[in-house]
Amino acid sequence: MGVVLEKLPGISGRVPGGEIVLTTADAIIGWGRKSSVWPLTFGLACCAIEMMGSYASRFDFDRMGVIPRPTPRQADVMIIAGTVVKKMADPIIQIYHQMPEPRFVISMGSCANCGGPYYDSYSVVKGVDKIIPVDIYIGGCPPRPEALQYAVIKLQEKISRMKLKNTHGATFQQAKGSREL
Ligand code: SF4
Repeated sequence: MGVVLEKLPGISGRVPGGEIVLTTADAIIGWGRKSSVWPLTFGLACCAIEMMGSYASRFDFDRMGVIPRPTPRQADVMIIAGTVVKKMADPIIQIYHQMPEPRFVISMGSCANCGGPYYDSYSVVKGVDKIIPVDIYIGGCPPRPEALQYAVIKLQEKISRMKLKNTHGATFQQAKGSREL
């Protein structure tokens, strides 16, 4: 399937009616991707409790197609919920690269955004975007489950605007090495 999606934009430009096929494929694939945003079960600190609360019955993430997965191989989005210490930087980068493309990252809470209350600490990364690219930032210490759900809605909007022409064959921003911390 990945090979077909990769070749489709190039082929559609050369055959009559190809653009219609591409537009239709864009709509179907975009709908499928945005309706099944599967996050990796991955929490780092207290923000993770709010993330877990989002999956519980009161907020019910499932109704939005958000079903947590225990492996990066089946996950679309990594939610960085908590303080990113330098010791965890390399595992985060490794797990990020184990996720299939297109992959997305939500930075949840002040710690993940910029270090939060531990900004001055020698051991804390001053924002997870220093090691991996981030799509959506959520402010707060901690953000409530509603904020996480709003972030997923914004991510779904972003996914539905994606085009095969741009997502395949384009150079994705590569995760930076932890040496730059
Ligand atoms: S932002 Fe606040 S609640 Fe979230 S991990 Fe940091 S200290 Fe904990």
